[in-house]
Amino acid sequence: MYIIFGMERKCVKLFGFDIDSFNFEEAIDYALELINTKKGGQVITINPEMIENALVNKTFADVLNQAELVVPDGIGIKIGLKIKGENVDRIAGVEFAHELLNRCSQNKIPVAFVGARPHVVLSAVKNLKAKFDNLKIVYYQNGYFSDEQRVLKELRQKSPKLVLVALGSPKQENFIKQARELLPASLFIGVGGSFDVWSGEVQRAPKIYQNLGLEWLYRTVKEPKRFKRIFPTIPRFLLNVIKKEVFKIS
Ligand code: UDP
Repeated sequence: MYIIFGMERKCVKLFGFDIDSFNFEEAIDYALELINTKKGGQVITINPEMIENALVNKTFADVLNQAELVVPDGIGIKIGLKIKGENVDRIAGVEFAHELLNRCSQNKIPVAFVGARPHVVLSAVKNLKAKFDNLKIVYYQNGYFSDEQRVLKELRQKSPKLVLVALGSPKQENFIKQARELLPASLFIGVGGSFDVWSGEVQRAPKIYQNLGLEWLYRTVKEPKRFKRIFPTIPRFLLNVIKKEVFKIS
């Protein structure tokens, strides 16, 4: 059991991994507590692909097990847990990170952005500054750098309390692993394609798709190159949940 300032993690298990069952507001409060108490750490917005990776990759499994907060981002996670009889709210990573930025701007908490193509991170930063008046962006860097040590050093010098890393998975988790050691009191989140959304480069699915849990389908149709990667994952993942978690067949 982990308790911070009276907030207790309420985890459920999927393939042996802890997943938090906080609702959206609770998850935001918990993340802010991690920042305010200087406990820092890592938030993972988990999807089926990441669980599949953790099942075959011990280093990635360790990252998952050591995360301070694991929110169910992918709809496959919500359905997988439902099959096991657990009800959790889906928390879209892009919305979670956006609200966290809102709260950081209200509380003058310094933030940093690492990732995405140069013009994308630039537009995302510009749009977010326009949206959140007091957002204190102390550092931003696109995700196509060759000298990782330089980026890590610059991050440490700027001392952000929240760092959003958009390099895709598992690249972002590998980067965060190193950055955490340099900034142990800061909070890190891997946010995948969120900068693309905030820059206006990529549109999220219309609300109806989001509410039906079909945002992944909309995105794979819009970006066919994702089809091969995303489409078979959810049915395969859910079949595995039934096999291993319900019927306990290994
Ligand atoms: N990205 C990056 N550096 C890389 C590879 C990817 O900055 O070396 C960025 C990419 O530009 C995009 C983000 O990572 O903004 C997420 O990519 P993707 O949509 O593949 O990730 P997902 O959200 O599916 O995990």
